[in-house]
Amino acid sequence: MSEIESLVRENIRRLSPYSCARNEYDSQRGVFLDANENPFGRLNRYPDPFQKALREEIGRLRNIPVDNIFLGNGSDEVIDLCLRIFCEPGKDRIMIFPPTYGMYEVAAAINDVEVVKIPLNDSFDIDLPGVIPFLSQNSVKVIFICSPNNPTANLMNSQTVEFIIQNFSGIIVIDEAYSDFCDSPSFIGKINLYRNIVVMQTFSKALGLAAARVGMAFANAEIISYMNKVKPPYNISALNQSEALKKLKDKAEVKDQVDMILNERERLSAELKNHILVRKVFHSDSNFLLVEMTDADSVYMYLISREIIVRNRSSDVRDCLRITVGTPEENDRLIHELRNMKL
Ligand SMILES: *Cc1c(COP(=O)(O)O)cnc(C)c1O
Repeated sequence: MSEIESLVRENIRRLSPYSCARNEYDSQRGVFLDANENPFGRLNRYPDPFQKALREEIGRLRNIPVDNIFLGNGSDEVIDLCLRIFCEPGKDRIMIFPPTYGMYEVAAAINDVEVVKIPLNDSFDIDLPGVIPFLSQNSVKVIFICSPNNPTANLMNSQTVEFIIQNFSGIIVIDEAYSDFCDSPSFIGKINLYRNIVVMQTFSKALGLAAARVGMAFANAEIISYMNKVKPPYNISALNQSEALKKLKDKAEVKDQVDMILNERERLSAELKNHILVRKVFHSDSNFLLVEMTDADSVYMYLISREIIVRNRSSDVRDCLRITVGTPEENDRLIHELRNMKL
């Protein structure tokens, strides 16, 4: 049994996947009387279950073979699949580093998987001494590392991440949803060096397709084949596959938007630092700012009353709001309303 196979839940190892009509005949040409579709219309056919055209384009852009790429109905589906493939409900555990993305814990709860939480240290980095005792425990099966992290906005120390990878025999999921907003190298380059990592990226942030729900996972072919085995057959609609493919053809537009967001991030950060109610604007490697206020709850409520919606993270990080960088006009509105707030 391979190392990966030995990490996979037994029922998943044994599972024979649903075989859909389109698995058996791999061509666009022919008379299709196999899937009980209505023969008339435009969206009448089931989509490609393995999103071949889209994965090939992603592979070309990232210079990575198609069988190292999985596409999910958002990264959220990838997170859920990692739990369902690797974690035995009621027995195995995952590890997270709070404050972090809320879906890891929710997906774990849905799958009846316990969560070991090692809070980030004062510099919002992984507390390696706190992690080390767990690395050799077999009950932790999956470690979720979000880098840049949501909501703290910073990259995790890559040497710490690498240390964890090298000293943990379970699966490490590295969530790079915000990696387009910083220039740290992606862990995608290491999926064949380290066979136990899964790198997640998404169409929802820099690529601007949150409505389409397309998440990417990069891993060795064995892990990818388990994901394909467990996912619902038609997990990405034809509409979403074609929108995502179109988006990839427009690299210049995406780059312009990311550049604009990065400029605005610096401008907004400088403006906020000057505001009397702002105690601190944390360093950001992403497209949002974590901002510590003298009183986050009242600023939050005030902004809502001005129809500006930010995320109140004060229950996770004391007195902090998470503010997404918007268009120049939206950021101007925010700054304007904050200046007008009566103290
Ligand atoms: C926004 C975000 C995602 C993206 O999730 P999708 O399901 O792909 O939209 C993933 N991880 C983190 C940490 C995020 O903040």
